[in-house]
Amino acid sequence: MSDIFSREQFIELAKISEKAQRYNEMISYMLTAAKFNQKFSEEERNLFSLAFKKSTQPRRNACTQISSIQEKQDQEVEPFQNCIQSFKQKIGRELLQQCDDILEAVDNCLNKKNITTESKVYFLKIKGDCYRILAEQDFGNTHTADDAFEAYALGFDIALQNLCPLNSNRLSLTNNFCVLYYEILHDPTNACLIGQKQITLALNHIEAKDCERCRDFTTSKALCLLVDNVKYWTYLQSENYAHEEF
Ligand SMILES: [Zn+2]
Repeated sequence: MSDIFSREQFIELAKISEKAQRYNEMISYMLTAAKFNQKFSEEERNLFSLAFKKSTQPRRNACTQISSIQEKQDQEVEPFQNCIQSFKQKIGRELLQQCDDILEAVDNCLNKKNITTESKVYFLKIKGDCYRILAEQDFGNTHTADDAFEAYALGFDIALQNLCPLNSNRLSLTNNFCVLYYEILHDPTNACLIGQKQITLALNHIEAKDCERCRDFTTSKALCLLVDNVKYWTYLQSENYAHEEF
């Protein structure tokens, strides 16, 4: 931790980086801010999420792009293929380093005293996301999918017991837990089951009108995303079924 700047100044630097669209700097300022004892506010958690997403996305995309190119390169000679492979591995190592740094900060935040249930769910979601990103790429580490599952499952449990069905952290974690089921564990049935159950609970909660406070913009955004995903996955499943029938 630097003695030069205060925690607030690191947050300010992260905001400036966001405006300048310099996301690698943004995440690094947020990681430094996370090292201070004071916990992230809701606004700061949103900054952290944005920095996490925007800083990892380019390398995730790069690895996916190169993998799809590699699939079409099977007629190429070996030295050329090896060159493409080591290029992908180089980007993979950068992604691994990024996720390691974020995981370290997340564990540090989870261990802070008097952490709120909502923060706990938030950081367990980020932890699951980090491992899911690593599981998405073929880095030869077979544990990452299990680690992602473990983090999401723990967060999901805590969210179900303590948070309102419309809570944005609960819904975001549910959504990404379902994405893990669908994309990484190749289990569309459970992705749809878990997602649909949470959608029903959220909709019933809206109808019950007993909790006005939790119905904010982020909530509806997280709910819409989950609804869209479950609709799409259900549609794809019925498509597969139809193909089998005919
Ligand atoms: Zn509520």
